[in-house]
Amino acid sequence: MNKVDYLRISLIDKCNFRCQYCMPEGAEIDYILKQDLLTDNELLTLLKEVFIPVGFTRFRLTGGEPLLRPGVVDLVKAIASLPETQDLSMTTNGFLLADMAKDLYEAGLRRVNISLDSLNSDTFDLIIGNRGRSRWQLVWNGIQTAYEVGFDPLKLNIVVIPGVNDQEVLDLAALTIDRNWHVRFIEFMPIGNGILFDDKGWVSSEELRERIRKRWGLREASVRGNGPADVFQIPGANGTLGFISQMSECFCDRCNRMRLSADGWLRPCLLNEMGQIDLKYGLRSGVSVGELREQVGYLLGIKPEINFKQRESGTTGMYSRTMSQIGG
Ligand code: SAM
Ligand code: SF4
Repeated sequence: MNKVDYLRISLIDKCNFRCQYCMPEGAEIDYILKQDLLTDNELLTLLKEVFIPVGFTRFRLTGGEPLLRPGVVDLVKAIASLPETQDLSMTTNGFLLADMAKDLYEAGLRRVNISLDSLNSDTFDLIIGNRGRSRWQLVWNGIQTAYEVGFDPLKLNIVVIPGVNDQEVLDLAALTIDRNWHVRFIEFMPIGNGILFDDKGWVSSEELRERIRKRWGLREASVRGNGPADVFQIPGANGTLGFISQMSECFCDRCNRMRLSADGWLRPCLLNEMGQIDLKYGLRSGVSVGELREQVGYLLGIKPEINFKQRESGTTGMYSRTMSQIGG
């Protein structure tokens, strides 16, 4: 059985972008009330007293947009300095990164994934739902700063949307040739948001690989990380290409993670809502950390049965929360 030791922690469900695949315009999103967010102390208590004792040692901070969480640098410092933390990383949209990268690095964060769905500022703004001054340059500056500060590996996440950014795949892949950057193509997932982008809605990783193979060739490679990406490299390139194929492939049997939402729900599987535990309610209603530890330990034991495993059921109807709420 796969060891489950990786926890994705959503720090906040709010975001300064409205990516059309995540928080589509017009979608009614019930944001978590401030008093319902796990506090820093509650989160650290859960890590120290519940998650670490049952074997979690690798943590990713996500959201919503994690850099919007007040005090995020101090929280990074506190988690990075736990002796049991073997790996701490963050997924961010990069908008605030140029100003925060150095502080985050000094606080102990070493790995960052930044979403960059397009190299074209108009397409980028269309995807992130921005109608004002383009935000592309600020995100690009954030990526450059993170690179200069020393984040390694530095990964770029691209959700591939047919007819919107899929024609940029070669340009995005080319970023890895001279730079030691790791570009990851993610199949769009119809989760909590309705089918937005025509009746297919996603392009398979194999189709993308074929396009890249034809242009440069492609060989298998590896890069440090905890994810389900299949990693390849353009021969002679400095960086790598990752493919996350949750729609065209099933990697539920190698799943190594659980997700903690910003309001304290522990979710064993991204793709269904079985087995969730409200840890914040537990903490606030006086349930002992020992008992919470037992509940999480039990969930770890039954996770293989909870894992989703059936691609054909990957329809929108069964998800009541979007990625921004779950902590993608
Ligand atoms: N705001 C941060 C960001 O965008 O990187 C972190 C949170 S976001 C929910 C985490 C990742 O989930 C991003 O890489 C985003 O592109 C991806 N994501 C969101 N909705 C998705 C969807 N419907 N299908 C596939 N990936 C999605
Ligand atoms: Fe915000 Fe990230 Fe969702 Fe985009 S993908 S709306 S940046 S949480």
